[in-house]
Amino acid sequence: MARGPLIVRTMKALDRATGSYRDAGETLALVPTMGALHAGHIALVRRARRRADRVAVSIFVNPAQFAPTEDFGSYPRTFETDIAALRAEHVDLVWAPPRQLMYPEGFATAVSVKGPATVDLEDRFRPQFLGGVATVVAKLFSQCRPDFALFGEKDYQQLRTVTRMAADLDLKVKVIGIPTVREKDGLALSSRNVYLSADERAAAPTLYRTLRDSAARIVAREPIVRVTSEGWHTIEAAGFAVDYFEARHAETLRRVETLADGPLRLLVAARLGKTRLIDNIAV
Ligand code: AMP
Repeated sequence: MARGPLIVRTMKALDRATGSYRDAGETLALVPTMGALHAGHIALVRRARRRADRVAVSIFVNPAQFAPTEDFGSYPRTFETDIAALRAEHVDLVWAPPRQLMYPEGFATAVSVKGPATVDLEDRFRPQFLGGVATVVAKLFSQCRPDFALFGEKDYQQLRTVTRMAADLDLKVKVIGIPTVREKDGLALSSRNVYLSADERAAAPTLYRTLRDSAARIVAREPIVRVTSEGWHTIEAAGFAVDYFEARHAETLRRVETLADGPLRLLVAARLGKTRLIDNIAV
């Protein structure tokens, strides 16, 4: 059986571990997560393994990216099974900082994000989310000082925001985006899928199906406005309340009018009962 990852909860222990990697001339890849690990997270870990000599996974449910009305309290926490999964992937280090270390008394600084973080997508429905992510990711980068950091395309606006932040603040880390891992029926894996009832789970693949059909129609030169408004209705007919279903520029996430404004990305967020699902696809 593989040796487990080193589980680290203090800055001193983290510095000791990452310092020893650096002294040995080894590169480090970081996979930031909130735990409740699934095959999507493991895909990031495997890519990290190929990319760097050492792999660190952070597990921290970040209160700053949840609104008071959201699921911070009930977010799934499965630390022991997460560690077992990471052991099987030969992860070197798990950074599991206590909340007090991340946000000590008197904490008063935040990263302010614009550009792809202020385009009326997630930012419109979760105003605290991307700033909260940027702040915690900036802290994780500064604590771990990785050469590479891996993020899922599943959270596409987050990926674009973090990529922008790393470049803008000269954080000297290469941000790498990884394609979304899906169930056989197309549903994007998410730690929140456990919230879905059996009926909701059966309806959930409509999101990806509609993304795929809509992308094909846009490529076939159907007008974007027509395709996205019909897609919106298809998703609604499956029982979702749609927050957005839009084609955007794949890098800037700005609004587009035609295929020629591309590269394009189709993005959706919709609520099924109490669960909010997001997904996206390249056009
Ligand atoms: P989370 O723990 O939900 O904050 O996610 C941690 C990282 O895993 C983020 O970079 C996510 O984008 C990524 N991720 C989540 N779900 C998937 C998925 N189905 N496929 C690929 N990456 C994912």
